[in-house]
Amino acid sequence: MQLLEQAQDGVRLTVSTPEADIQAAAAANDSLILEFEAFRDGRGFSLAAVLRGQGYRGRLIAAGKVLPDQARHLRRCGFDAVELPPGADAAPWRRMDQVFSAAYQSATGDDRLVWRQRHATPPVEDAAALAARLNDQWADADAESLLAAALDPALGRKTAAVSSFGAEAAVLLHLISRVRPDLPVVFLETGQHFFQTLAYRRELAERLGLTDVRDITPDAAVLSASDPRGDLWRSQPDACCAIRKVEPQARALAGFDTRITGRKRYQNSQRADLKPFEAVDGVLTVNPLAAWSAEQIETWLHDHQLPRHPLVEQGYPSIGCWPCTRAVEAGENARDGRWAGQEKTECGIHGRTLAPAC
Ligand code: SF4
Repeated sequence: MQLLEQAQDGVRLTVSTPEADIQAAAAANDSLILEFEAFRDGRGFSLAAVLRGQGYRGRLIAAGKVLPDQARHLRRCGFDAVELPPGADAAPWRRMDQVFSAAYQSATGDDRLVWRQRHATPPVEDAAALAARLNDQWADADAESLLAAALDPALGRKTAAVSSFGAEAAVLLHLISRVRPDLPVVFLETGQHFFQTLAYRRELAERLGLTDVRDITPDAAVLSASDPRGDLWRSQPDACCAIRKVEPQARALAGFDTRITGRKRYQNSQRADLKPFEAVDGVLTVNPLAAWSAEQIETWLHDHQLPRHPLVEQGYPSIGCWPCTRAVEAGENARDGRWAGQEKTECGIHGRTLAPAC
C-alpha cells in the first residue's frame, strides 16, 4: 500500500457520489481518489471492492476520514494507495498494513485464507517415488531406523502394521513397541486360529505394551452364508482365505496408505529381492526386516528375551490357521507345513507378493 502526502493525479470523488457517476468516472479515468466522509462510513470499502470486481484496473486512492487500523482492509478491498491526513505519521499505517499474515474472508488480492490453510491437505508423495527415495536415503540403515523413517510424521501418511502373531512376529512387534507402541496393528482373527496363537497374541501385546492391536474378524453374514459349518477350507481354501483374511484385511486397512510387514528375503525365492520400502498396489509397504537372516531373528528373540509362540518348540516354524498348518519334519522348509499337500502357498491377503499375515 502506497502512502501519499497528497494525491496528485486522479478524479476526486466522495464515497456518497451517485453510483452511476462513479461508474462513468471509472470508465473514463485510470485513477480515482475516493474520499471517505465519515470514519464510520464503510461505503468506500464496498465501492472499491465492487469496482475491482467489475474489472477496474486503474489506480484507487483512499482519502479523507480513514484510520491506520484500516490500512490492511483498504488494501484488501482494492485500494492501491492512501492519501494521509495532513501531518499524519506514516509508521502506524505501514505497521497496520502488515500486522496480519492471513485473513478469514476472501477479498481482492491473493491473501491466503485461514480456513483454507487449515483444511489444506499437504500433497502426498506418490508411493513408488517415495519408496525409491527412502530406499536411497536409508540404504544402510538398521531396522529400527527404517521403522522410524517410515513413521516420520513429516511424510504425512497413515500407517498400520499387519501381524500374524506367528513364529517370528515378536521381532517386528518389539521394534514397533520401541518406536511407536500406539501404532495400529492388524491381527486377522480368522476364527480358525490355534488357541495357542490367540493366547500368544494377548500375551505378546501386553508384554510389549502395544496399545492398538485390532482383532479383525470375518463378516458374520458372509460366514453364515458361505461357510456355515466352518469347513470351507477343506473344499475351497482360496474362498476360505478370501472371506476370512482378504476381505477383513481390506476392510481393516481402508484409510491407511502405508503398511508395515515382517517379511524377510530368506523366507522364499519370491522375496529374494525384497527392499525395505516398496510400493504395492499404490500402498507404501515397509519391510524393516527385509535384510535380516534367520540367525539374526533368533538372536534378537534370544537377546531381548521375547516370548516365543508356544507351537515353535513343537515343530511349527510357520504358523497360520490350524486346519492349514502342520509341524514340519527335519529337512523340510519352514513353510512346508502350510497348506501341505496343496498347490496353495499364500493366502492372498496382499495382492501380488505380500503375505506377512499368512
Ligand atoms: S488359512 Fe486355511 S482356514 Fe485359514 S482362512 Fe485360509 S483356508 Fe481358511
